[in-house]
Parts: sequence; C-alpha cells; structure tokens
Amino acid sequence: MVDAAADRDDLAVEAALRPKDLGEFVGQTRVREQLDLVLRAARARGATADHVLLSGAPGLGKTTLSMIIAAEMGAPIRITSGPAIQHAGDLAAILSSLTEGEVLFLDEIHRMSRPAEEMLYMAMEDFRVDVIVGKGPGATAIPLELPPFTLVGATTRAGLLPPPLRDRFGFTGHMEFYAPAELERVLHRSAGLLGVHTTDEGAAEIAGRSRGTPRIANRLLRRVRDYAQVRADGVVNQESAARALAVYEVDERGLDRLDRAVLLALLKLFGGGPVGLATLAVAVGEERETVEEVAEPFLVREGLLARTPRGRVATPAAWRHLGMEPPQQPAP
Ligand code: ADP
Repeated sequence: MVDAAADRDDLAVEAALRPKDLGEFVGQTRVREQLDLVLRAARARGATADHVLLSGAPGLGKTTLSMIIAAEMGAPIRITSGPAIQHAGDLAAILSSLTEGEVLFLDEIHRMSRPAEEMLYMAMEDFRVDVIVGKGPGATAIPLELPPFTLVGATTRAGLLPPPLRDRFGFTGHMEFYAPAELERVLHRSAGLLGVHTTDEGAAEIAGRSRGTPRIANRLLRRVRDYAQVRADGVVNQESAARALAVYEVDERGLDRLDRAVLLALLKLFGGGPVGLATLAVAVGEERETVEEVAEPFLVREGLLARTPRGRVATPAAWRHLGMEPPQQPAP
C-alpha cells in the first residue's frame, strides 16, 4: 500500500516535471529540429501531422515528446499502450472515438497483438478500419471511416517492429542517451520546479550517476532532496548528493545494488565468466528477465559486461570498478 502510494506520488511529480513545449525540451537536438520542421509544415498546411515513431530506452522522453506534439498542434491526446490492446476490437474502439487531428500515443507499440497491428496498417494509411461483424462464413467486414489523426508510436527497440508497420511512419526519431551537461540542465530545471536549491556541483554529481536518462536524474534528485532536508540544510550540493546516493546504493558511475550484485556474482563465483544468463540470474536471486532487461543493457553500454555466444563475460573495466585486479590473460 505504501509502495502504491509512493508510486502514485512519483508519477504525479514526473508529470509535473514534463517540459510543455519543444523549447523547454532539453537535448535531442536532431530529433527536436526534425520534429519542429514536421510540425511547422503541417501547421502551415492546416493539415494533421504525419505519424511519428519514437525509439529509445525507457525514460528518455518519448511520452513527453508525444504530449509536446499534441500541444504544438493544438490537439488533444489519447494515451494507450501495446500490451493494453489485446484484440483488434480494443483498437477499433479507440480509433473510432478519435476526433479530427487528435494525437494517439501508443507506447510499447512492438507489444501489440498481430490482428491489432494489421488493423493499424489500414488505419494509418487510409484512415479507415474494417470492423468484422459475426463469425465464420457469415462474417462481414463493415468499413468505418476515421477522422485524420496522428499516431505517435513509441518503442524501446525499433528493430522489433515489422517493416510494414515501420514504413507507415512519416517520421522516425531516435532518442539518444543524454550527455552529463544536458542532464545537469534537466536537473536545474526540475530543481527550480520543485523549489529545491541546487548548486552546479550538486547537479553534476547527480547527473554523473543518472545513466544518461532524465527520468533517473529526476528520481535521484528527489531522493537527494529528501536526504538534504532530513540530514543537511536542505541544499542539494556535491556533498549532500554524494552522501545521499551512497545511502541509496547508487555508485559514482550510476550502478545500483542489482548491477553490482550481477557483476560481483560474475567475478567472484564464476571468475569473470563466461557464464549463462540463467545461472547468473539464479546466483543473484533474480528473474532472468530482470537481469537481462534491467541490469545488462546499462552494464554492456558502460563496457563492464559483454554478451558472448558462450555466456556473459566481465571486462577488465568491471574488475577494476569493483576494486579488483583483472586476471592475467593467458599468453596466446
Ligand atoms: P519515456 O516515455 O521515454 O519513458 P518520459 O517522457 O516519460 O520517458 O520521460 C521521463 C521523465 O523524464 C519525465 O518526467 C520528463 O520530465 C523527464 N524528461 C524526459 N526527457 C526530458 C527532456 N528532454 N528535458 C527535460 N525533461 C525530460
């Protein structure tokens, strides 16, 4: 219960911190510029904007951008997600209730069911769906006209989308991880909105541990704010940030408890690998998916872990990060 309440609180704060227009949106210069052109041109023509696909890791701003697209087009927005659409009928119900120019944000679009996906092809291209009534030989398709709308699809992996779906988007934006200086700007903006006095050094300390991700930066800022309020003078500076993040077990490189547990198991139990994912997951007492989808992408990106055909392997940088000497490579 407490957790659910805390989650709701976090969601409310996250919503309050979302930039409201492209000018406020930090970083992603290329996507921002390209999208700005797409939206301006559509506005000048008095047309509905082309469908937009946004790809990138969680927390990089895809939902935020979809809301900005709607705001810039002066259109309402409907938000749903792939896993919420199990049947084509679910999608038909949403599509048929859209108003002209409305933005439909479909998060995790790669997780939609196949029949819904096929219905979406036609809806995106012709603004039309066929609603099937009845079953078996007596089934008939009733065509239903839709008002023009803008689909904004978001996916963590554009490569997972079937090409026919990918090709129906007029614009694809790839969201990159943020540079530390960009995260510092995100943090200063959020600190201003939250009314937390934050020094440049404090923002830099948090930015360096945020894995290139604004959602994580904002979350760490809130935890540092709590610490500064209770244990210090309320100011987020280098010292309060470093101490707070030590309490929350986020190290200076952004690794958290799970990341370190995975690396430690790999180094101490398996001599640095190679070891299979399933074995590694059992060793840290986590689900295989958690290790694979939560911990590994960051560890791989940081050059601490490699996925090889024979299993997971720690790199020399992983040994050094945990204060250990990498084993000598056998002479070739
Ligand atoms: P995604 O949909 O990619 O998972 P969100 O759009 O929900 O990510 O963003 C997560 C949080 O990060 C939001 O609260 C938002 O305030 C913040 N955020 C994301 N991108 C930016 C940005 N470019 N500038 C400022 N804040 C951002």
